Amino acid sequence: MEHTHDVLILGRGIAGAVLAEVLMQRGLRVHVYDSKRPGNASMAAAGVVNPVVLKRDVPSWRALELLPLAQAFYRAWEERLGARFWHPVELVKLFPGEREAAQWQKAMTAPGTASFVDQRAQDELEGQALNAPHGHGTVHACAWVDVPAMLHAQRRYLLDQGALTELEVREQDIVNDDHGVRIGTHSAALLVRCTGPFDALAGLVPVKGEGLTLRIPGLRTSRMLHRGVFVLPQPDGTYRVGATFKWDRVWDGPTDEARTYLLGQLAKLSPLPAEVLDHWCGVRPAAADRRPILGRTGPHEAVMNGLGARGVMLAPWCAEHLADHLLHDRPLDPEVRADRAFGGRGLTPGGDINWAERT
Ligand SMILES: Cc1cc2nc3c(=O)[nH]c(=O)nc-3n(C[C@H](O)[C@H](O)[C@H](O)COP(=O)(O)OP(=O)(O)OC[C@H]3O[C@@H](n4cnc5c(N)ncnc54)[C@H](O)[C@@H]3O)c2cc1C
Repeated sequence: MEHTHDVLILGRGIAGAVLAEVLMQRGLRVHVYDSKRPGNASMAAAGVVNPVVLKRDVPSWRALELLPLAQAFYRAWEERLGARFWHPVELVKLFPGEREAAQWQKAMTAPGTASFVDQRAQDELEGQALNAPHGHGTVHACAWVDVPAMLHAQRRYLLDQGALTELEVREQDIVNDDHGVRIGTHSAALLVRCTGPFDALAGLVPVKGEGLTLRIPGLRTSRMLHRGVFVLPQPDGTYRVGATFKWDRVWDGPTDEARTYLLGQLAKLSPLPAEVLDHWCGVRPAAADRRPILGRTGPHEAVMNGLGARGVMLAPWCAEHLADHLLHDRPLDPEVRADRAFGGRGLTPGGDINWAERT
């Protein structure tokens, strides 16, 4: 059976975009379908790449393996696209209490975090109006990815190649038969669904996130700051502050409640007044056990999903791991298999408001 392509991809947030790039780099003929639905995660993502879970100062899942892979992947992709979206940045965590300062001391010698964190001086922050009564620590291995810029650059490339159709795909538009999958005039032996929080996949939990873009006159930092929330400096001198975590009414859009919460958290970090310029919102595709969801879901279908709150760092590893599995029959890591039993560790779907500093 002759197909027009090797793989069709549905959805081009971070997951679909990175997977398309990985498969094309492996020489496959790929066609991507996407329409930007309200609430999609990637257009709201702050793009922070941080290998440390700042609530507990422990490494995020497989950080030692994922971080160098992500850095190499995005830098090489920038070269190919002739665009800039990977921006290394130091993250400075402000300690509100003795407990946090002591926890950091442990992280500086713990095997999983020692290579990421230190307590270097931050001359740039001296004399600034910041509340750090017990000092600060630095995660020096961080970056932020300008996700909209990355997606925009790839969009141009894919459109030039005739490899992207910007269209809302309905279930009845996807035709499965014994040989493969067809959508419109494109067919392939395999369709990979990268539809993020819009998928009805078992184990997937949508988690709403909101953030603010602010002008903070008087604050001058090239460092990313963290105390309860992230404060991420932008090239135009504004700051992105976020994000919230909420498990109910995830599709309702921006709320006053989140705005009040974020400004309250910011006030703990700095007494400087802030002007709200923008309020953004999206829905994270998390898994109940907080691991990616990868693998085949049918004879001609597979998924790459469950990227949760760390999609930027996870996506290159997930795409390579899934490609090895689909193309070379390499076994999937049991922790990420789509057909695993979801234990529900950590996330609390439903329920009331759950604010947490999980990223
Ligand atoms: C407020 C917020 C802040 C965040 N900050 C960070 C951060 O700092 N760092 C980080 O690493 N991660 C962050 N994340 C998480 C990150 O955004 C996600 O992990 C990631 O974007 C998930 O990407 P995805 O491609 O799986 O989903 P999505 O980005 O939602 O992409 C799915 C795509 O599929 C499309 N689609 C779905 N169904 C169809 C259909 N039938 N037809 C056509 N198109 C379809 C959607 O419209 C969308 O474009 C944040 C998320 C939020 C909400």
